[in-house]
Amino acid sequence: MIGLQKGEAFQDDKPHEECGVFGVFGHPDSAALTVLGLHALQHRGQEAAGIVTFDDGHFMSERHAGLVGDIFGGRNATRVAGLKGSFAIGHNRYSTAGGQAARNIQPMFADLSAGGLAIAHNGNLTNALTLRAELVAEGRIFQSTSDTEVIIHLAARSTYRQIVDKLIDALKKVKGAYSLVALTSKKLIGVRDPWGVRPLVLGKLDGAYILASETCALDIIGAEFVRDIAPGELIVITKDGIESYHPFAKQPHRLCVFEYIYFSRPDSILEGRNVYEHRKSTGVELAREAPASADMVIPVPDSSIPAAIGYAAEAGLPFELGIIRNHYVGRTFIEPTDHIRHLGVKLKHNANRAMIDGRRVVLIDDSIVRGTTSRKIVEMVRSAGAREVHMRISSPPTKYSCFYGIDTPDRSQLLAASNDVEAMARIIGVDSLAFISTDGLYRAMGHRERNNGNPQYCDACFTGDYPINLTDQGMGPQAQLPLLAETA
Ligand code: SF4
Repeated sequence: MIGLQKGEAFQDDKPHEECGVFGVFGHPDSAALTVLGLHALQHRGQEAAGIVTFDDGHFMSERHAGLVGDIFGGRNATRVAGLKGSFAIGHNRYSTAGGQAARNIQPMFADLSAGGLAIAHNGNLTNALTLRAELVAEGRIFQSTSDTEVIIHLAARSTYRQIVDKLIDALKKVKGAYSLVALTSKKLIGVRDPWGVRPLVLGKLDGAYILASETCALDIIGAEFVRDIAPGELIVITKDGIESYHPFAKQPHRLCVFEYIYFSRPDSILEGRNVYEHRKSTGVELAREAPASADMVIPVPDSSIPAAIGYAAEAGLPFELGIIRNHYVGRTFIEPTDHIRHLGVKLKHNANRAMIDGRRVVLIDDSIVRGTTSRKIVEMVRSAGAREVHMRISSPPTKYSCFYGIDTPDRSQLLAASNDVEAMARIIGVDSLAFISTDGLYRAMGHRERNNGNPQYCDACFTGDYPINLTDQGMGPQAQLPLLAETA
């Protein structure tokens, strides 16, 4: 049966991004621009969104569960009018199932001895539990389970007098992946962790400065792209302009390679590379490494479409939309009724029988995590009459969990962690299965191969080569403190 088991949430079997951030300094419509920016970054988190602005001596905030359009649109549009001021920061959040607590919605705000500080954070700290335990032992009271609050407490505890110094002092104590935007009564601050795992870009609009997780959020407001924030860089934007600091020990650059494979929007440009072009190139490389005798190439939409276009072009096979995606399936079905559960994956994807019936298909997907959705999609394609199904994956096998801000299941649930490719092919039910090689992935990125001594990207979910210490590992199953899940 192509359906979900009892208790199984309706969601795709993909790793999930855990946040998008946005900031504006020096524009009279800062809150409205932030709403638009967060809307463009909706793919990075769909559970909740929030905005903090500052005006006339006061910080104002709106933080709610839901999609940006619902929180700040329609009859809720008045919320935007209440967020006055010419500078703002905003945040989109993804949470693991069951981890939706209003108190975890960002940006987080606190009054420090040096003034108010609001922070919105994308990423995950790998020593948050350790630091939190120390802070709690000192008597600090936490109001959320978010590691962003750990940063705020560390800044509050810092003995430095200036707020930027307090923030730097706090960030020197944390380890992990973070791109964050922060707001004070006079400044917009943007920071990327020393490894640069998560992206952060700077843009300009009518003399105002913009910070965003991705360039697609600059495009939506018509802002010009200025540059990427460098790994380990902290910029402070005031009415006098931008100051750039590099306060942390230099580390090897390790942008998350999965940003190119799946997370970022295809129209974004990450560190000079267009995401769409990258995905097409991986399809080309995959066709060279793993050809298949077939009649057509079909993507599992939407994220695999560019790779399938590349594969089809290189293989000289027709590209067809053999699976149609329904874009209107949201989280409404997180707790489906028995009837809806029975429909399962068909709620989101339907095979285009007219294209598939009697054909040999190459099915392109960008990753296999647990394999549950892949198995159901293959079953659906076969039910629509496919004679042969050859699955090709535009990333190497996902064998390891991410601890840097991407919600992946525990390693024991990753199909590739305990099965070789042949076994995976049997479980998923395909005639053949192949993944792009790690070097193939790097070739598609324009490199000759992976530099094993100093890899060009973080690729730990494929290689297990974690660039940043996993300090909290060994503290139990909750060793990654997601920005969200309840721990108690
Ligand atoms: S482990 Fe994987 S998903 Fe996580 S940051 Fe590294 S490459 Fe990205």
